[in-house]
Amino acid sequence: MLICAGALIESSGQIHRPGHLRMEHGIMTQVGPSLDPQVGEEVLHLPDLTLAPGWINLHAHLELSSLFEELTPEKDFPSWLKQILARLPSLNSETRRESMQRSAVAALRTGTTSIMSITSDLHAMAGLTSTASRIWWALEFMDIQTRPEVSLIVERSMAWLSRNPASAWHLSLSPHAPYTASPKLYQEVLASCAIHKIPFTTHLAESPEETSLLAGNETSFCDILPKEPPRTDFGNSQSPVAWCQKNQTLPEGAILAHGNELQPSDLPYLKERRVTLVHCPTSHEWFGRKSFPLQLLQDNGIPVCLGTDSPASSPNLPLDLREEVRLFRKKYSHISPLEAWRMITTIPARALGCESKLGTLQTGAWADWVGWRVPLDHDPFTAILESSDPAELTCVAGMITRHEKI
Ligand SMILES: [Zn+2]
Repeated sequence: MLICAGALIESSGQIHRPGHLRMEHGIMTQVGPSLDPQVGEEVLHLPDLTLAPGWINLHAHLELSSLFEELTPEKDFPSWLKQILARLPSLNSETRRESMQRSAVAALRTGTTSIMSITSDLHAMAGLTSTASRIWWALEFMDIQTRPEVSLIVERSMAWLSRNPASAWHLSLSPHAPYTASPKLYQEVLASCAIHKIPFTTHLAESPEETSLLAGNETSFCDILPKEPPRTDFGNSQSPVAWCQKNQTLPEGAILAHGNELQPSDLPYLKERRVTLVHCPTSHEWFGRKSFPLQLLQDNGIPVCLGTDSPASSPNLPLDLREEVRLFRKKYSHISPLEAWRMITTIPARALGCESKLGTLQTGAWADWVGWRVPLDHDPFTAILESSDPAELTCVAGMITRHEKI
């Protein structure tokens, strides 16, 4: 199939006007300023649209969207966790499934074609057969009460993926956070990621209470975490990253959500582990966190990308990455639209190990693209990031969807 658009962003350094792309079986087979139709080939003319790579959101909880406006930011993080824990029993599998599907549609409408979604309920997944966007299902693990059987859960999830081969789905694993997952669990999960060659993600250094707990202090976490069995690994860690280093809980290439509480002494280990940080601006602001250590990370060459987190802690119900970029650039005005663009395309693609498949529209990449109606003579990065209308067309793994304005 040939798509002939007014413009096409092949990569941040290459824009074609006009821009044509050919796709077959979910892969882009040819990209350029002028491609001739082959005999009998289906041609889609989109002269007013700019085709761009679909965006990648590396931190979301699709299953929690029904908690939008249900919770309030509290004076401390454990109090917010307490609110969410109280509501989890009412989120049955059906509610979570609806939430996942609705959120994937909303995210796709706003230009996001790939989402890494933390997933804690395998039963909800079992009833799903498709989603609008490409998903990395990040299976969440905790061992505060019982010990999960990591390899069995991974095996079952792989069987579920193989039963739905037409869906653009992938697996990743996620120990929740140092306060709910023991070093042993982290090590088991990272070993499984290495065996299956799948991405690893975790929440890290999110709140001052977490830092304090890992340093061995009494914190309000004590109100929600069970006293038995006692955690012998709490104490003597100057920071959550120091806890990771001491307990060898981070694989190379780990994707870390938040990192709000990083300290300069954390940087050598993060660099050595080649981590990627995911910053979620609207959620960060909702919690009223202190400023994100962007400069520290950038000075040390640690890649940063932008995610949404969940509507349980953010006003961004549609998981619109443009909202995240706009708030981020308001706080960090030295970040250009092009740099922000990389934070939702090529940087997260590299973190997933998919730099040749996602984040650009180059030949051989997956056919995950978005058609935007923005003025063709403007800088497309600025025009798209500042737009607020939904994307007009989206394509995930070669499946095209047309979106209407509501
Ligand atoms: Zn999260």
